[in-house]
Amino acid sequence: MDNTTHLDLTYVINEFNEEDEPPSLKVEVSSASTSLIAHSAAKSKWNNDRIAISIRSAEFLHKYFPNSTERDWNSWTWQVKNSFTTSQELSRVLSLSSNEVNPNIDVNDSLPLRITPYYASLLSSEDSCQPLRKTVVPTLNELIFSDGEASDPLGEGHNSPVPNLVHRYPDRVLFLVTGFCSTYCRYCTRSHMVAKEKCHIGTKAWGKAIEYIKAHSEVRDVLISGGDALTMPDTHIEFLLSNLRSIPHVEYIRIGTKVPVVLPQRITRSLVNILKKYHPLFMSIHFTHPDEITPESKEACERLANAGIPLGSQTVLLKEVNDNVPTMKKLMHELLKCRVRPYYLYQCDPIKGSSHFRTSVSKGIEIIEGLRGHTSGYAVPHYVIDAPGGGGKIPILPEYFLGKNGKMITLRNYEGKIFQYPDVF
Ligand code: SF4
Repeated sequence: MDNTTHLDLTYVINEFNEEDEPPSLKVEVSSASTSLIAHSAAKSKWNNDRIAISIRSAEFLHKYFPNSTERDWNSWTWQVKNSFTTSQELSRVLSLSSNEVNPNIDVNDSLPLRITPYYASLLSSEDSCQPLRKTVVPTLNELIFSDGEASDPLGEGHNSPVPNLVHRYPDRVLFLVTGFCSTYCRYCTRSHMVAKEKCHIGTKAWGKAIEYIKAHSEVRDVLISGGDALTMPDTHIEFLLSNLRSIPHVEYIRIGTKVPVVLPQRITRSLVNILKKYHPLFMSIHFTHPDEITPESKEACERLANAGIPLGSQTVLLKEVNDNVPTMKKLMHELLKCRVRPYYLYQCDPIKGSSHFRTSVSKGIEIIEGLRGHTSGYAVPHYVIDAPGGGGKIPILPEYFLGKNGKMITLRNYEGKIFQYPDVF
């Protein structure tokens, strides 16, 4: 393990093994209609390993990256290298509002700006209130700190017996394998550690965490997160999974990721071939809004699902982004169509500068009430609050159990009708 290289952003930029990169379809694309041909060709040629490029993406590519090709666009390393990382770069593709021009974004502890060209292609160029744009473009609101906010509200640092590992629950651990994400969410719970110099973690630095897991036979379940593990090269991912899988008491492995949403080009055949060697392997995908369901993200999910990886979603409840029943219902329905089972709806954690994203808890309950009974049970996620200070996830439910009178339980259904149930003693 010690002979492996340190991991930092340079691995993405310079050390990537181009064998991941598929052969070109050799389709010259200069118009939307040609893109459609490329789309269906790529769709039918999984062997060529290209995520189908949508009309929208093709138009964005040709407008803003005229010297690049669809082959470039479909390379996940090209996406990382060409990501927007400053307001100045972003202003090439978006008309930034006065609230979005943030002179302090590169100082102090601020979460940096980083958006892949693919995800930027989904943003409205004019409307700064567009939900997706609000999730990734920094604003001056981030400089407003409110009561109760903290840089590490979940207190993960207090439950970390060795570097990069959080052991809060008895039988499972959280393994933070990298501090890098291809796109930074402005409400990120781990903004205190992602994108920080100290957290460009390397395989060498995983040693203590792996040794800890080996030494703790009660750990049945390892959740790999970060940062985003799927931004690492295949070799690092294989190294990590093979080490974890070789531990007899680790029954299953989970990966939390936003890559299929912000960098679907990363879901290459070679990555999928690695992942499927390490079953049982589960994946929680961070979707936020139905506008993130595109031909590209759908295909990424399909590739993962076809590899036998059970897919779940985790969504953060965000003010004026997804905090209403129609938007949330649409997202949950679209996820199921992509074979992603809605899993968690998180109350937004009180990180510093997050008040513009946070809704009341009653808003979350209202949304769950608007889903439960009104649509398929599979489309209803668990609404949870990750308790500040390290209390873990606490489920929040509307009041369906109204009380007990003698042997009878009083219940309320989704329509508000009252029913009695004879309990058993
Ligand atoms: S993908 Fe996850 S870890 Fe990365 S910025 Fe978004 S919320 Fe944070």
